Amino acid sequence: MTAQVLVKDEFLLSRILSRQRAAFDRDGEPSLAQRKADLRKLKTAVLARRSEIEAALNADFGNRSAYETRIMELVPIVQTINYLRRNLKAWMRPERRRVAIHFTGARAYVVQQPLGVVGIISPWNYPLSLALIPLATALAAGNRVMLKPSELAPTTSAFLKRMLEELYGEDRVAVVTGGADVGATFASLPFDHLAFTGSTAVGKLVMKKAAENLVPVTLELGGKSPVVLGPDADFETAATRIAYGKLANAGQTCIAPDYVLVKDEQAEAFLSAYREAVAKLYPNGIGSETYTSAINARHLERLRDLVTDAKKKGARIVDVALSSSANAQSLKLDPVAILGATDDMAVMREEIFGPLLPIVTYHDIEAAIAFINDRPRPLALYYFGSDGDARRNVLTRTTSGNVTVNDTLMHYVQNALPFGGIGSSGMGAYHGPEGFKSFSHAKGVFVQSRWNFGGLLRPPFNRLTDMAIRYLLW
Ligand code: NAD
Repeated sequence: MTAQVLVKDEFLLSRILSRQRAAFDRDGEPSLAQRKADLRKLKTAVLARRSEIEAALNADFGNRSAYETRIMELVPIVQTINYLRRNLKAWMRPERRRVAIHFTGARAYVVQQPLGVVGIISPWNYPLSLALIPLATALAAGNRVMLKPSELAPTTSAFLKRMLEELYGEDRVAVVTGGADVGATFASLPFDHLAFTGSTAVGKLVMKKAAENLVPVTLELGGKSPVVLGPDADFETAATRIAYGKLANAGQTCIAPDYVLVKDEQAEAFLSAYREAVAKLYPNGIGSETYTSAINARHLERLRDLVTDAKKKGARIVDVALSSSANAQSLKLDPVAILGATDDMAVMREEIFGPLLPIVTYHDIEAAIAFINDRPRPLALYYFGSDGDARRNVLTRTTSGNVTVNDTLMHYVQNALPFGGIGSSGMGAYHGPEGFKSFSHAKGVFVQSRWNFGGLLRPPFNRLTDMAIRYLLW
């Protein structure tokens, strides 16, 4: 992109931000009724355009199962909006706080005030829900929003632009499309808050840009989310739930189980349970319409390279799909399990983001915990097994963004739970009351009473001052 175009982008984006901020300053914070109406409008529009949405996602992926779009994009959006609408009134209520005894008569409370203009940068893997869920949360908190969706899902991004600007007008919600250059310009704007969902590498660049303007950030990043199979795990159930988490959206899910840790003598038993589970979920193999494609040829190539590299370095690659009847144009990759993967293989160093499942063995649960703690803190951790010391140990001695026990992915759809990473998997959270708070400023307000003890602490000092000090230092 030429320097001239970049300057033009910067000018256009700054102008939108100024317009939104001026509108925010002019109109003040929206009422509860207005926020609920905004959210309802979004839900109605999304539901009315369901088939357009499913077609847009299918176009972006080449093949995106309509069921995956319904279950993993539409349902979470609608459920989030319902949850926000139900809870908004309580969250917006000023929260009374206690005052110390020498301020008796005065009042203190906290109000959750909208921040102003929130910038949102979203990724391609769930291009609708990962744009609209933060957006709905920011609107619920009373903000205006500028959204930069991913260039790798251009049909969905164009759809978002059309729908949102029609619904709200550019001074309330503006959508800016473009690639990394536009993203970089976007991240350098002096927003009141910037929420970024994407890779850890780009997250670092975004935070650096935001720091120049002291813009607070929420970073929803990626990483390698482990599954620990406890010694007493039920493999049939675990394998089905792991296969679902791994293969939904063909593994292109930030919280997809990245690799499995299993007790050494149980690895083969888990492998055969995993093969059976995949066969049940996808009886027609990857030729099935319900098996989603890789987003593009570059991504598919990256995944193939991971397999080739692992194989070359001595790993055993096991095909886990029943048949491989997809045509070459469909950009679908055979799901495989990888046994004997080691740290020198790229598949154990990079986030996989595809249908490859390394099965790593541990000797005892301490070794599994050490394996996780030797690596960057994951976005999600999964544990399978009944309650007991092993499970308690894994949950208390590892740190991850979230945990699901005896399933995969499901913490994400618990509306009341915060969702976010820690360390290199991110910072800050949305979903639940935490989401509303991330996009609000908790403003403490103190209202002094007409008559109060404070006067005793002002000069001229006297005996009563001494008594008051004695009391306060007690
Ligand atoms: P990405 O980081 O490549 O891109 C994300 C967004 O950032 C896109 O809109 C892109 O245009 C923009 N961007 C690119 N370069 C930029 C720059 N220099 N400055 C500002 N913006 C820039 O991520 P992706 O490939 O779209 O998504 C996959 C990654 O996202 C994976 O790592 C995955 O784990 C992660 N992810 C995390 C979550 C979560 O909730 N934690 C959810 C989905 C995906």
